[in-house]
Amino acid sequence: MPDTLSSPVVLRTGRHLVDAGLIDGDADQTADRIGERYSIAIPSGLAALIDPNDPEDPIARQFVPDAAELETSDGELEDPIGDGAHSPVPGLVHRYPDRVLLMPTLCCPVYCRYCFRRDRVGRDADAPTAEDVDRAISYITAHEDIREVILTGGDPLSLSDTNLGALLKRLAEIPHLNNLRIHTRVPVALPGRVTGKLVDALQCGLPVWMVLHANHVRELTDEVAAACDRLTRGGIPLLSQSVLLKGVNDDVDTLTCLFRRLIALKVKPYYLHHPDRARGTARFRLTLDEGRTLVDALRGRISGLCQPTYVVDIPGGHGKVKAVKAEKSDGEKYWSLVDFHGNPHEFRDF
Ligand SMILES: *Cc1c(COP(=O)(O)O)cnc(C)c1O
Ligand code: SF4
Repeated sequence: MPDTLSSPVVLRTGRHLVDAGLIDGDADQTADRIGERYSIAIPSGLAALIDPNDPEDPIARQFVPDAAELETSDGELEDPIGDGAHSPVPGLVHRYPDRVLLMPTLCCPVYCRYCFRRDRVGRDADAPTAEDVDRAISYITAHEDIREVILTGGDPLSLSDTNLGALLKRLAEIPHLNNLRIHTRVPVALPGRVTGKLVDALQCGLPVWMVLHANHVRELTDEVAAACDRLTRGGIPLLSQSVLLKGVNDDVDTLTCLFRRLIALKVKPYYLHHPDRARGTARFRLTLDEGRTLVDALRGRISGLCQPTYVVDIPGGHGKVKAVKAEKSDGEKYWSLVDFHGNPHEFRDF
């Protein structure tokens, strides 16, 4: 039970959310039911950014569970981007010849309600074991065409400094690797976690690039700016990825503010993702046409530095495709997306 005098550091239960004023007093059981399927965690610093009087608050929309999550709609999938089809060993995804995803943990500092791995993140039963990580490292060592290892999850910065540092050093010893990359929400969701010790742990003998996840300018507080500054001073190049989400950032002004602020923090916007068809996430989805119209409107309006690449992950595991490359002939209900092998795939708006 939470201490009634001080709020808990991370909100995880329906009761925590009621006590913080983020959901109605009678909605705690529904929140707990959602939490049994899709993990819930909101660090108090992030919760403090929410205006409880604004029913459309873009921070709340990303992190506060909603009864709509219990409904699965047409076209939604447990593994919307098809990681499973390209996983030679548990915790590793090898879709493109020269790079792999490695998931050393499934824990995140915050659980985003639109997450494409929401069926797995935060679930102890699915967490990778030390043996899984050993097997993944053996696989990478045996495949000399792999030049980059992308740590993702879950959030790799959920590991302790010691465990993260040890993993990075093991990877840095693999002679054919060119660089490492970390995909993370920690600098935004838990900026205090980005300590000098963490920055030291990143000095592993190979360049480490960091791609942080941010969707709205209000997430990018002064504490986040300070965390980015510690990273850039520590020699870590910063990029960002954002998800285009209905009701969060689906207008030109909101995207403009987000990307300008990122550039001011020395973070280069890298990808803008079309929302994936994860289960119970219909309220976040927009059509490919709507997304392309928004991205077109940013062209010319803001600096080229501020422009990410707008991408769609083709269901079935065929990888990312630039959304501008989608084609639709008159009257057709689906888009054609051509994967990096040159094969076309049908993609429908749901
Ligand atoms: C997204 C992704 C990558 C990284 O792709 P980049 O275009 O290099 O950022 C690598 N492997 C898998 C399986 C991916 O889904
Ligand atoms: S931080 Fe990333 S992996 Fe974790 S819940 Fe959010 S989107 Fe999913």
